[in-house]
Amino acid sequence: MMIKRSFFGLAKPRFAYESANPAKPEKISMPKIVTLFCKTPYRGNGLLAVGEKVKTGQKVLLYGDSDAYIISSVTGTVSSVSSYIGDFGKSYTAITISASAQEETEDVFGKDPAEISLENAKKFLAFSPGAPALEGFSESDKSKIKTIVVCGVDTDLLMFTQQYVMKNRTEDISKGISILKHITGAESVVIAIPRADNSDSKPCGMKNAGAVGGASGAEIREIRSEYPAALPHMIAKEVLGNVVTAGKTWEEIGISFFSAEAVASVGQAFRSGRVPVNKVVTLIKKDMSKVLVEVRLGTPIRDIFNAFDVTLNEKDRIIIGGPLTGASVYSEDFPVQPDTDAIMVQDAESISAVSDYPCINCGECVRICPVNVPVNMLVRFCEAGKYQDAADMYDLYSCIGCGLCSFVCVAKIPIFQYIRLAKYELERMRLANLESEEAANA
Ligand code: SF4
Ligand code: SF4
Repeated sequence: MMIKRSFFGLAKPRFAYESANPAKPEKISMPKIVTLFCKTPYRGNGLLAVGEKVKTGQKVLLYGDSDAYIISSVTGTVSSVSSYIGDFGKSYTAITISASAQEETEDVFGKDPAEISLENAKKFLAFSPGAPALEGFSESDKSKIKTIVVCGVDTDLLMFTQQYVMKNRTEDISKGISILKHITGAESVVIAIPRADNSDSKPCGMKNAGAVGGASGAEIREIRSEYPAALPHMIAKEVLGNVVTAGKTWEEIGISFFSAEAVASVGQAFRSGRVPVNKVVTLIKKDMSKVLVEVRLGTPIRDIFNAFDVTLNEKDRIIIGGPLTGASVYSEDFPVQPDTDAIMVQDAESISAVSDYPCINCGECVRICPVNVPVNMLVRFCEAGKYQDAADMYDLYSCIGCGLCSFVCVAKIPIFQYIRLAKYELERMRLANLESEEAANA
């Protein structure tokens, strides 16, 4: 992370995205087990029981209430199906598969072009690397989403997963864009890449993006190389000229965002007939050195630490994601998910402790907020659990989730965590109200 100015000066500090040209990812050996998460509680929607054999690419579980499947990333035997409690007490289903040495792979698509459909993409690719965001598209209303944005830059600092994919998987990305245009009916596809500070240090992906755009008919747009320019709200505003009204969904606005890896997964899947199962991840070590790793989806992060000699001591912290928007996990058994772009390990000594100090009204959080949220007031209401007031009076829904306010808070208040919790609780209440209304009308 490059910090170009002092934190506490009058001007806002600048954070630059990675512009390194990463080497090819190092593949780690096949894991002994993989754990696949479904982000909803288990509702008896397993397609295979404990003890049953499964091939790589085979369907194992329906993804929540949708028609999408969780796909096995290894060949082996289902060893358990259990609950997992994640952030804010949210309940997931965890399916664990013991991998066998002999791999057999199942084809899910044939060679018939008719099989290249939105229905098949939604069913089979929701769990593929990059987690393609297909749920907003509908076969019956193809005019809903007009623009697809392919993000060829990572959304947080210190990582270069998407920049690597953008540079090295040109063919799959071109194919993926053509397929997405065909199956979704989107009118335009825009590839967002970081703007180079100077011509000698062009971030990886720049030259190749031109080739991808030419082959697929997508438009290339450069974004500022400063964080948080690659976050969806900033791309919508600065690249597409679309100021997003707080609280509106991307579906309502008509834009859908895909990472470069998600688009490559779509291209690879329909080209090969198989669901991709390998994920690229940036490992950020305690000394801030970085390495790109290629692993099977569901690999426990312990396997990655073992392969790269990362030793965890008491009170060290594991973060899934980048330094500003990532979330802590407390077990090395946590598996690599389709959207796990980075794993960061922080040494206990370098972690600034969360304190009990109250807000001193210094205004740093307000000054750094890219969308002018009155953060000092917002955090008071979130802390007190007054979520609706936080939304009604202090712009909770204008927050684009960049995490900069937490980073600069001199009182070490976990502002971003409070904001996340507030949004999560309001959404939970909205769904509960919807359910009771539906039950009353039934
Ligand atoms: S996370 Fe903080 S700084 Fe970022 S948009 Fe939200 S309130 Fe503003
Ligand atoms: S929340 Fe933190 S950064 Fe914001 S005004 Fe209070 S002490 Fe300063």
